[in-house]
Amino acid sequence: MIINILKRNYIQEEHTLVSEWTNKEFKTLLQKPKLTNEQLHNVLTSRSVGAINALCSFIHSYHIGGDISGLANMMINRLKKGSWECPKCHEKQPER
Ligand SMILES: [Zn+2]
Repeated sequence: MIINILKRNYIQEEHTLVSEWTNKEFKTLLQKPKLTNEQLHNVLTSRSVGAINALCSFIHSYHIGGDISGLANMMINRLKKGSWECPKCHEKQPER
C-alpha cells in the first residue's frame, strides 16, 4: 500500500520531466536502444538518469499496452510508425 503511494508520487514527478523532451532528444533516445540510462544521460546531458529511465518505461508500456500518460503526442505519433527497438526490453517493433 505505502509502496504503491510512493510509486505513484515518483511516477508523477517524472511525468513533468518526460513532457519537456524535444523531438530531437526523443529521436536520439529511440536511435540508441542499446545504451544504458547512464550512457544516454552522457549523450542527452540535459536529461537526468531518472527522466531517461521514466521515458524508457513509458515506451515499454506503450508496446505492452500499459500506461502511456507520460508520453507526449509527438512521441506517440513516432512510436505508432514502428521500426524502433524498445530501450527497456529490446523487443523490436516492426515498421507499420
Ligand atoms: Zn519493451
